[in-house]
Amino acid sequence: MRRAQPRHQVPEPGTFALTFDDGPDERFTPQVLDLLAERGVPATFFVVGRSVEKHPELVRRIVAEGHGLGSHTWSHPELLGLSFAQLLRECRRGRRAVERAAGRPVPDYRPPKGHWDGRGATAATALGLRPWVWTQDPRDWEPGASAEGIVAALEGLGSGDVVLLHDGIQSAPDPASADRSATVAALGPLLDLAAARDLRPVRLEAP
Ligand SMILES: [Zn+2]
Repeated sequence: MRRAQPRHQVPEPGTFALTFDDGPDERFTPQVLDLLAERGVPATFFVVGRSVEKHPELVRRIVAEGHGLGSHTWSHPELLGLSFAQLLRECRRGRRAVERAAGRPVPDYRPPKGHWDGRGATAATALGLRPWVWTQDPRDWEPGASAEGIVAALEGLGSGDVVLLHDGIQSAPDPASADRSATVAALGPLLDLAAARDLRPVRLEAP
């Protein structure tokens, strides 16, 4: 069996991908989805199993509106501190929760914080997960992040980039991080920046 390796980039020239981690969030995920719908733009959501169980309707909306969907573990733990058995359980339970809500197979997966090692690769391979990381992290998860700061951090946005954003926050370093308003406010200007560079947003899809 070929060992799973995380993908970083989208292959088609002239495209890039917006990704949203740590949801679904009852307040901010609908705001992100509304904005994406207004602009007619696809994104990809990496959702956390325990939050999916609270809001399966948001996962159904993500799917119905044509976005990409992946799992992001069951409870967003510090992966590097887990035993292999715990790691496997987190990944499997997270994926199952998303698949139950979506009503279809969901192989795409993003490890929390992008933490990836040999054990993560073994677990992903055993579970048939397709792991994704990213190329651009504008640090929207930091307390005090602003829309202007997020857009400015993406000044280097180019073809193939995978942008890490958050429509929710799990294990927040600061309660202020739970407010995703800056990410929502950055979305329009970010799409304008991409359009000015002739970059077309696509959802993540394994080749
Ligand atoms: Zn995360």
